[in-house]
Amino acid sequence: MSHHYATIQFLRQQGYRLTPQREMVVLAILDQEGHFTAEEVYRQVRRQSEAVNIATIYRTLDLLCDLGILTAFQVAGEPLRYERADSPSHHHLICRQCGTMIDLPDQVLHPLQEMLLDQYNFAAEFRHIAISGLCARCRDAQT
Ligand SMILES: [Zn+2]
Ligand SMILES: [Zn+2]
Repeated sequence: MSHHYATIQFLRQQGYRLTPQREMVVLAILDQEGHFTAEEVYRQVRRQSEAVNIATIYRTLDLLCDLGILTAFQVAGEPLRYERADSPSHHHLICRQCGTMIDLPDQVLHPLQEMLLDQYNFAAEFRHIAISGLCARCRDAQT
């Protein structure tokens, strides 16, 4: 919670006027874990106040992305997902059919990084890679 307070202070220092409503939205966003959509934030905020509309959620998410607090990423056909910019480096396998997401630790890509350095003399920096494909269930359903 104190971490949240620091972010609120930071926004004030940047000159953003935080109405109580806006502050509530920021806190709800900072409460989310892992990846989340605007809809998920919206559902949480609506439990506290009926007065907030989804446009406010989107504007606040955009602002936090601009300030480098959040990053946004999109998988084809899925709503935009957000996550904290300071979350540790990690990657995802995402099923293009059902949207199932499997987390990949950073080490999985180390052999690829080594190969790119070796053969292309290129030091690749993988922060957040989403690899699209088909999960086992969707492959089974095809046959
Ligand atoms: Zn991620
Ligand atoms: Zn699938």
